[in-house]
Amino acid sequence: MIAEERAALARLCATVHWDADMGAYSTFRTGGRVDALVDVQDLEELGSLLSWLQGQGISWRLIGGGSNILVASPRVEGVFLRLKGGFCQARKLPDAPTAFGTGLVRAGAGCSLPRLVRCCSLEGLGGLEWAVGIPGTVGGALRMNAGAYGGTISHQLSRVSVIAPAGSDSNSGVWKVEQLGAEQIDFGYRSSRFPGAGPGEQPVIVSADFILDQAEPEDIRNREKEYSRQRRASQPQGTGFSAGSFFKNPPGESAGRLIEAAGLKGLEQGDAQVSCCHANFIVNRGQATPGEIITLMKRVQQGVADSAGVVLEPEVVIL
Ligand SMILES: Cc1cc2nc3c(=O)[nH]c(=O)nc-3n(C[C@H](O)[C@H](O)[C@H](O)COP(=O)(O)OP(=O)(O)OC[C@H]3O[C@@H](n4cnc5c(N)ncnc54)[C@H](O)[C@@H]3O)c2cc1C
Repeated sequence: MIAEERAALARLCATVHWDADMGAYSTFRTGGRVDALVDVQDLEELGSLLSWLQGQGISWRLIGGGSNILVASPRVEGVFLRLKGGFCQARKLPDAPTAFGTGLVRAGAGCSLPRLVRCCSLEGLGGLEWAVGIPGTVGGALRMNAGAYGGTISHQLSRVSVIAPAGSDSNSGVWKVEQLGAEQIDFGYRSSRFPGAGPGEQPVIVSADFILDQAEPEDIRNREKEYSRQRRASQPQGTGFSAGSFFKNPPGESAGRLIEAAGLKGLEQGDAQVSCCHANFIVNRGQATPGEIITLMKRVQQGVADSAGVVLEPEVVIL
């Protein structure tokens, strides 16, 4: 970014991390640098910022908790946006008309999943307990259609609010909030496609309403505890940093099982390693570079292709 652009960005947004080391903002704890990482506080700031970025032709991308990304490029030109401040709240909508025995909770896209689960549990609303140990945000979870233990975020979704250019002219400079019903979004296994979005185009999710079942708070807490226990028992603990499962499970198969069967558990590339605890986790043992993780990813893909004839697709978003 040139000096004038930096000055204009600083005027638009109060919190800009210049030349941000994305290792510090992703759970992999390694990554390249981006010109600027902006913490956006509210809808007004977001609309002005998106309009300005579009007008300047500066590339941008949303990130959430950084728990499913690897910034592999040493230098990303443009801006990453995180939704903070008012986007991090969750609350029950007390007067929303819902079916008997259910309730509606609205969460900002920047709200962490553990915080959303806590809010639901305090309101006696169950259905999202499986998400308690996932270190992502509502926006990232909807984009990835996150799930675990048979639950999936799209199953609990009622509607989502996105911000998009107003009118038919996408260069109008005006951005407005639209509501989409869950049925308008094409959710798949760890994927989502929003109406009108072309390949590679991303929605900007600002909030979502979840429909949940009334339940006894104690039962909800017990389910949370049980999912946390299962997570601790099956996933690497204290052996390094990761982005969760690295590869998507092929249809009817488990990526971890295929990697283990190929004899790749424990495989190392520099300080990156295929976890000895769960073969579908690649862990950064402290000093791994993004390049080492990518090389290890390719070695795993090759090994599984050779042994099982299956090409594993990364679940982690590589930027
Ligand atoms: C220890 C660990 C355990 C995990 N366990 C699970 C699990 O059980 N199940 C599971 O599904 N995942 C799991 N994950 C992966 C990850 O936590 C989830 O995919 C999570 O939902 C990603 O959310 P995020 O906010 O961190 O998104 P990010 O990683 O920051 O971003 C992911 C994608 O979402 C997009 N995005 C983020 N915010 C928005 C927004 N507001 N609008 C539009 N797009 C947006 C980004 O552009 C990017 O494409 C795990 C990760 C870790 C580290």
